[in-house]
Amino acid sequence: MNKKTVRDIDLKGKRVLMRVDFNVPMEGGKVTDDKRIKASLPTIKFVLDQGASLVLMSHLGRPKGGFDPEFSLKAAANVLAGYLGIPVQMAPDCVGPEVEKMAKALKPGGVIMLENTRFHPEEEKNDPELARKMAALGEVFVNDAFGSAHRAHSSTEGVAHFLPAVSGFLMEKELEYLGRATTNPEHPYIAILGGAKISDKILVVENLLTKCDKLIIGGGMANTFLTAIGLNMRDSLVEAGSIDTAKAILAKSGNRIILPVDAVIADKFEAEANNKIVDVDKIPAGWRMMDVGPKTLELYKETLKGAKLIVWNGPVGVFEMPKFAEGTFSLARLLAESGATTVIGGGDSASAVKKAGVANKMTFVSTGGGASLEFLEGKELPGVAALLD
Ligand code: AMP
Repeated sequence: MNKKTVRDIDLKGKRVLMRVDFNVPMEGGKVTDDKRIKASLPTIKFVLDQGASLVLMSHLGRPKGGFDPEFSLKAAANVLAGYLGIPVQMAPDCVGPEVEKMAKALKPGGVIMLENTRFHPEEEKNDPELARKMAALGEVFVNDAFGSAHRAHSSTEGVAHFLPAVSGFLMEKELEYLGRATTNPEHPYIAILGGAKISDKILVVENLLTKCDKLIIGGGMANTFLTAIGLNMRDSLVEAGSIDTAKAILAKSGNRIILPVDAVIADKFEAEANNKIVDVDKIPAGWRMMDVGPKTLELYKETLKGAKLIVWNGPVGVFEMPKFAEGTFSLARLLAESGATTVIGGGDSASAVKKAGVANKMTFVSTGGGASLEFLEGKELPGVAALLD
C-alpha cells in the first residue's frame, strides 16, 4: 500500500485538519489512560515543526447525539497541552461558523481541539455536508486514527474527499506492519488466530490461508474445528452454525491448520472452576475447554521454530481468568523469543502480550481491534482508501 504521508506534502504555513484517536478511557471527567494521546505526539509535533497550525478532531465514546459534557474532549485537550507545553484551545463544536472563525485565526504553531465528532449523528452516516463543514476548517487533511479507519464516517472518510488527504505516522506504521501480513509476507510465515467466535474471523482465516505457511487456530474458535473433525467438545463453546464452514476450510487447507491436541478444561465457565488437563478427544461430560494444554504449547513451539513472520490475533484461552491464562501467556513468550518479525493484531492479543510482560519484545502491536481484523480480512479500509496514493 502506497499512501502519501505527512512527509510527502508541504505543510509550511498551512492549516492542518488532523483526525486523531483520542477515544480514551475516562472516569469522573479525567483521562485514566492517555496512551493514545501520547501515541499521536510524533505526528502532531512533526506538523507543528513544519510551521503549520493544527485543528484536531476525534470521536469519544458513544454519545447519544448532541452535546454531552460526559463525552467532551476537553480533558483530552488538557492532557495534550501538558505534553506539548503550549495551550490547546478547546472549540465548542466540531463544525460551524464560530469554530471556522477560531480556525482561521490560528497562527502557525497554534492548536485547536474540536469537540467530539459524534455530537453530530450525521458523523456516523458519513454525511457529506458534515464532512464539507469539517473540511472548511483546514487546508490539508491528515488521518492518524487507524482504529477508526474501518468506519466510513464524515471525519474519517468523507472529509478526505474535500482536501488533499495523507496519513500520519501512526497510520503509516499500522499499514506497514499489518501490510506485511497480507502483501508479500516473509516466509516461513505462521499466522495464529484465537478468540471466542469463529464466525467473527472466518474471512480472516480464509484470507490468511492464502498467504501463510501454517495457521494455528486456538481459543474458542478451535472448538468448532475440533467438532468438525468428529470430536465431542462437550460443554465447550461451539458454534453449531459454523461447523460446515470449518469442515470446508479444513478440506481445502492442505493440512496447514494446527489445532490443539490437549486442553485445560473446567467444570464451569468460572474463574474458580475445577480444572484439569486432558487430550482434546477425552473431554468428560459436563466439562469445557478453557485453554490449550502443555502438549499443544510444545506443538506451537515446534511450529514457530524458524519462522520469519508471525501474526497473532486472539487469545488461545480464557486469559482473563488466571487458571486459564497460561496458554496465551506462554504463546506470547514464544513469540517474544522467536526471533521472527512479530505483529500483534490489536484488541485482546494486544492486552495479552502486555499482561504477559512482553509487549516491548514484539515488532509491532496494532492499536486497532476492529480495523486490524478487517485489514487482515484483506479489505481495503475506507479511511485508508480515501488517502492520496
Ligand atoms: P475475540 O474478541 O473474538 O478475540 O475473543 C476474545 C475472547 O475469547 C476472550 O475474552 C477469551 O476469554 C475468549 N476465549 C478464548 N478461548 C476461549 C475458549 N476456549 N472458550 C471460550 N472463550 C474463549
